[in-house]
Amino acid sequence: MLEFIDEELKLLKGTGLYRQLRTIEKTDGRTITIDGKSYLNFCSNNYLGLANHPRIIEAAQKATAEYGAGAGASRLISGNTILHEKLERKIAEFKKREAAIVFPTGFMANLGVMTALLDEKDTVIIDRLDHASIIDACRLSKAKLQVYPHKDMKALEKILGRSQSFSKRLIVTDSVFSMDGDLAPLPEIWSLANKHRSLVMIDEAHATGVLGKCGRGLEEHFGLEGRTDIVMGTLSKAIGSLGGFVAGSQQLINYLHNKARSFIYTTALPPASCAAALAALELIENDPSFLNKLRANLKSFSAIVPIIPIILGSAEKAVKASQDLFKRGILLSAIRPPTVPQDQSRLRLTICAQHTKEDIDCLASLLQELIPA
Ligand SMILES: *Cc1c(COP(=O)(O)O)cnc(C)c1O
Repeated sequence: MLEFIDEELKLLKGTGLYRQLRTIEKTDGRTITIDGKSYLNFCSNNYLGLANHPRIIEAAQKATAEYGAGAGASRLISGNTILHEKLERKIAEFKKREAAIVFPTGFMANLGVMTALLDEKDTVIIDRLDHASIIDACRLSKAKLQVYPHKDMKALEKILGRSQSFSKRLIVTDSVFSMDGDLAPLPEIWSLANKHRSLVMIDEAHATGVLGKCGRGLEEHFGLEGRTDIVMGTLSKAIGSLGGFVAGSQQLINYLHNKARSFIYTTALPPASCAAALAALELIENDPSFLNKLRANLKSFSAIVPIIPIILGSAEKAVKASQDLFKRGILLSAIRPPTVPQDQSRLRLTICAQHTKEDIDCLASLLQELIPA
């Protein structure tokens, strides 16, 4: 009966698409130990190194001692500590919104907000390269899903033009596209949404802590904060902890408390994760050195976003390049379909604040040697 599993796995192995876990024995963020050997980590989303910062680890330890290892219940039952509320107030302030709500992960935040807001009478309009969690949230929402080619504003306008009969229209875009590291054209999206009376939601997973003068995200980058109806993000990337969030009006957040199933029917975030995220946001606000260090590292690549794709084509090519780098002490995962489109398999290089100049020089020379232009 389970023969289809064997067949499917064989197919994945034959096409270079089989995925396997690697066991990390030790890490300080910058380096990672696998099978007793140390590697430079160039594929982490811990962009500011905050997951390993002593102040943040201490905050997590203190919260665990005070509140326990787990929250013990959902937020609405008995899992809502003072730390959860402090964290939400801090996120709202950071994103310049009235209020915020925290979910156990970013994936669950997307599921929760989109299924709560949309139904069969609505349409949701997304960029073709939006994150998998947005796509799954669309499917679960039952709204009519419409997809425009990557950053194609003419196509978005056309879709909006023929969508007036829907009860609500919601445009959802990644702020920073997770596999390409490019930015959504937010000002153009705002103006189209305004013209066609559509709501806008941005997924700031890779922008939070990274973009804009103070790391507040894509709106700050464009100098127009507070304009997007719904701001979603994660605490698991530059913030170095775990958890997803939505920030917006107090009414929106009250509504999500009552309607978002991935908030209501799941255990609250562990107190340690709340405390770590809170400490990280405070550190980002009070000490620009983390973001400055990241930006200095990004200068070598003439980049403003720490995600740098090196597109190689076939899955086999990407896997081979990743294995060659691994032999030389560099951890840089191959990204293959269905995460990226067919024939766009790649190495997705991420740069972090804790990388040294020597680390980056070492990587650059190995890339030149192993992947000739
Ligand atoms: C990582 C990511 C998520 C999911 O966040 P988690 O907290 O890891 O579940 C959502 N959207 C985008 C664009 C992401 O890159």
